[in-house]
Amino acid sequence: MIEYSFTPKPLDPEKIEYCDPTLVNQLAKCMYQTAFKRDKNFDYLQRANLFLLRGTAVHSVREKSPNKLLEVPDENFKEAFNEIWESEMKAQHQKLVDDWFPALVQDFEDWPEYRRVQSRTRINVKKEIQRIKDSGGGERPVIEGWFEDERLKLKGKPDRVETWDSQTVAIVDIKTGPDQEEIRPEQRRQLLFYAHLFRASSGQTPKKIIVENTRGERSIEDIGDSDIDAVVEEILELRNNFNSGLDGNLETFATPSKENCQYCPYRSHCDPFWLIYDKEWSQWKISISGKVKETTEEEVVVHNIVSPSDIADSEIKFLRPENFQLNVGDSVVIIDAKPSSLNSEVITFLWNSLINDTPVSS
Ligand code: SF4
Repeated sequence: MIEYSFTPKPLDPEKIEYCDPTLVNQLAKCMYQTAFKRDKNFDYLQRANLFLLRGTAVHSVREKSPNKLLEVPDENFKEAFNEIWESEMKAQHQKLVDDWFPALVQDFEDWPEYRRVQSRTRINVKKEIQRIKDSGGGERPVIEGWFEDERLKLKGKPDRVETWDSQTVAIVDIKTGPDQEEIRPEQRRQLLFYAHLFRASSGQTPKKIIVENTRGERSIEDIGDSDIDAVVEEILELRNNFNSGLDGNLETFATPSKENCQYCPYRSHCDPFWLIYDKEWSQWKISISGKVKETTEEEVVVHNIVSPSDIADSEIKFLRPENFQLNVGDSVVIIDAKPSSLNSEVITFLWNSLINDTPVSS
């Protein structure tokens, strides 16, 4: 246990009844994160993030655009596509603004990779339209709804289910991240989960799982019933482990690591995270748990640093943000501040930094 928590709150998560692929991947990564996610008292920490919203926008545009743009002449295509794209991005941007108030959220055109993702999506939509035209209008993209296995209480919504011929069904996941190459273990689990749902509802076993990247390139794996059965067994075991562990010490659910924790919204309340957190995890951002030593009109000084332990003897200074009342002796938990390159004892705040779970207005 660390010495103190700034706002200790008991965790009281709900049992899992139904599993979907996102929940299962979270359980496989860190069951303690799932415990936070399933306690409504911590819902306020689930703020939207840029990468998630960019993915949502791309999926939405790829769903809507082919049918809307099918009859648009080539010379007007780019403008018509951009209209759909920008309207979607504005909607996603508004979610960020609402979630991160009072912070000033960067304009969506400044999001990382914005132009590249926009042009790749436009090219993929154009290819989709060409496929529809080449097939005489018959092969419109099939966007599936939710599938459900009521017996095992599993549900999910695949991006695409493609029927190549009467014998071959493929489950397709469209990825929007920049570094997508081979099918990753968590993506394989997710696709086999969908394959099970399709098999349970149709009686036919899909033969392929596919991940498509932003360039439209596909990684394809052949699958069979035994692959699907192994994943279903893993899913049921994960759910059972979670539900049967809820009466014990939930911290034993935690599996902290740089990979698991670096974007976790619950870090501020997670002692297992603070116990192993190391400032070397990132040179671009730093999180700190300590106590306020001094405050002036302009500045706040933090000492008694509990974590990261490699700066336990240091004092950290920052300009006093307008929207915080910080008093000497208060516990302070800072998430994702920016270290100064010139002075290791100074930090500044970004639009998505938090002090005691609250965004920082600049
Ligand atoms: S901070 Fe890490 S250990 Fe804690 S809940 Fe999140 S992912 Fe799990």
